[in-house]
Amino acid sequence: MSSTSISVPFCDLFAQYNSIKGEIDEAIRVVIAESGFIRGRQVQQFEDAFASALGVRHCLTCGNGTDALYIAMKGLGLVQGNEVITTAHSWISTSETISQAGGSVVFCDTKPHSYNIDPSLIEKKITRHTVGIIVVHLYGEPADMDPILEVANRHGLWVIEDCAQAHFATYKGRLVGTMGNIATFSFYPGKNLGAMGDAGCIVSNDTSLSEWCSLYARHGGKGLHEIEGINSRMDGIQASILLAKLPHLNRWNRARRRIAALYNEALNELHEVKLPYPDPLREHVYHLYVIGLDKRDELRRFLLKKDIATSINYPKALPLYPAYSHLRHKSSDFPVASYNQERILSLPMFPEMTDVQVEYVVRSIREFFH
Ligand SMILES: *Cc1c(COP(=O)(O)O)cnc(C)c1O
Repeated sequence: MSSTSISVPFCDLFAQYNSIKGEIDEAIRVVIAESGFIRGRQVQQFEDAFASALGVRHCLTCGNGTDALYIAMKGLGLVQGNEVITTAHSWISTSETISQAGGSVVFCDTKPHSYNIDPSLIEKKITRHTVGIIVVHLYGEPADMDPILEVANRHGLWVIEDCAQAHFATYKGRLVGTMGNIATFSFYPGKNLGAMGDAGCIVSNDTSLSEWCSLYARHGGKGLHEIEGINSRMDGIQASILLAKLPHLNRWNRARRRIAALYNEALNELHEVKLPYPDPLREHVYHLYVIGLDKRDELRRFLLKKDIATSINYPKALPLYPAYSHLRHKSSDFPVASYNQERILSLPMFPEMTDVQVEYVVRSIREFFH
């Protein structure tokens, strides 16, 4: 194959579907045959399967990963005036749900070598109004949980783990989503475990918290209406698709790690390029493979001309977006996140990526630098 005929998408959802087409088609057919569109048995089955895969007591499915964060905070009793500390470097769901739930967002900068919250900066952000911390395992790399849990315990704060990008990643042998008070997942199609539409869930070992969240997400309970709630649920077709995909997740994560290792090895010699930080105590699941470099925009354009799609996740630190202008932050308030976010570039990464595609990306990046 000549290199000019190769094209590399950022992510190829159709390739994944094709690889297990029979299982997905059959799963959807059964839901239709049973008219199990809402509250079908597949929803309960997925909740049981996902909880047992993580080794947690409860899994509550909901409409999407953003709702999951909102519901979790309502469940933790967030009220107006409460402050929640979270990372400056994430997708906006993490912070917008704090405001939705009535709280105030307090942003914290990230660690230089990782893209996750810097635990050593959290304590300075704590006031008498602080009630909790939302940790994001960004790009599939587990955040440094031990010092975060330590500071949370010392100050009586709850911890939510936002695992939207890190299904089955581990920190010192513990699965992400099992370490805080409650954890949220997104099954947005492009995530490591993706539905064919919107879907999300909340997991926890806390039975009363989980029961309250379940009531809240389902109008306060069908026929009970003990409280006013919202309507946020995973539909039967999404649950059946996720049930079909779940047994493949470990294999897909291994494929992502293998591609990351190929990238690491091939790009290691380019000193201008910062690679993902390797930490033997954490098993990264590479939702995204993110590099950092000064000539980010030039490389991005160069790769696009070669039919290689890349992405920037995300273009600015959250506190610097117009949505947070009322907080009057400057980039110097978050020097690490601001610096990183001008330099980051996400390379193509999906389990079905072929060696030919990986090599073509690597060769093109080398060509850019030489
Ligand atoms: C995708 C994502 C979410 C939200 O998920 P949706 O299902 O799209 O609502 C939340 N947090 C992070 C870090 C995400 O990447």
